Amino acid sequence: MSEKLSVKATKLKKEKPVGLELKKIKTRTTNIVEISVVIPIFNEQENVDQLSERLLKTMDAIKKRYEVIFVDDGSSDKTSTKLRSLFKRRSDVIRVIMFNGNYGQYIAILAGFEHVRGNVVVTLDADLQNLPEEIPILLGKIDEGYDLVGGYRMKRQDNFFRTYASKMVNHIRASATGIIMKDHGCMLRAYKRFIIDEVVKTRETSTFITALAQKFAGNPIDIPVTHVERKAGDSKYNLYKLIRIAFDLLTGFSLIPLQVFTIIGMVISSASGIYFFVELFKKIIGNHHGYGLHFAFVFLLLSVIILGVGLLGEYLGRAYFAVCEHPRFVIREILEKEE
Ligand code: UDP
Ligand code: MG
Repeated sequence: MSEKLSVKATKLKKEKPVGLELKKIKTRTTNIVEISVVIPIFNEQENVDQLSERLLKTMDAIKKRYEVIFVDDGSSDKTSTKLRSLFKRRSDVIRVIMFNGNYGQYIAILAGFEHVRGNVVVTLDADLQNLPEEIPILLGKIDEGYDLVGGYRMKRQDNFFRTYASKMVNHIRASATGIIMKDHGCMLRAYKRFIIDEVVKTRETSTFITALAQKFAGNPIDIPVTHVERKAGDSKYNLYKLIRIAFDLLTGFSLIPLQVFTIIGMVISSASGIYFFVELFKKIIGNHHGYGLHFAFVFLLLSVIILGVGLLGEYLGRAYFAVCEHPRFVIREILEKEE
């Protein structure tokens, strides 16, 4: 295999830009890929070596043609350097997509999805909380005929806050979207290619990929997978990011929040109409004192209005990004062998 690296400026796609690609480094290969593993990775310098070693060992043993696509989500530690040297060592299977900044785990996965070559696509986190060694179990289920295999974490090893926040988000998602799946936050999953193609086609700006994919699957199955504590590095999620995900989920999949809001608005305005007439009546018969209730009422009304404006903003923001075809991410560089 020729290992000569060449630097090429990539032509910007003629179709609508989804992610911009600025530069590609390529070498040649003629392999037909059967399995693509997509891994979003952000500041995981402590995990890259062990992850790649365990993953490649598992994948090599499967004896099928595969590729591993790392999407470096703007890491600022040694992750990118480590990925470069990994690519040099195993450019037969490794591809690296490097973003110009941090766009978030789900956008990174989407970028990976846009580049997959395999008929089956597996996603995995880089933090080793899920075991790369369990990938063959998922692939076995795909061979049995399932088109989506979702892992669910048997015993979740995250702190109390993360576990319960995520349970709550799971619950909101299930009731607002009607999409039934055990654990949308578990990234150890396998998909048949057609599902991934559909996900890519949606051109979502802020997608909850696992739930979206579940919608496109015809024959999905959930299977239990191991979940261990993070041994190195920190969770990249904080309260703000979790709240963002909950909003993405709600506004991305349904108009229900907007409709619920309209109904709340109607109920409150009828109630305040009645309240107004009661107060007016009291005033007329001269039994009127104290403003406490008035203030409470005004605050309640204000909070509803602010919440409503926020919700409208969520939908407007999504429409805005869709209309102006804002790229969801910008790719600074791609390390890969040419097909
Ligand atoms: N990640 C990413 N971009 C981000 C945050 C996280 O690519 O902005 C990656 C991270 O490197 C890991 C995966 O997404 O591979 C899951 O992140 P993390 O383990 O922090 O999430 P948690 O397990 O706490 O849900
Ligand atoms: Mg994790």
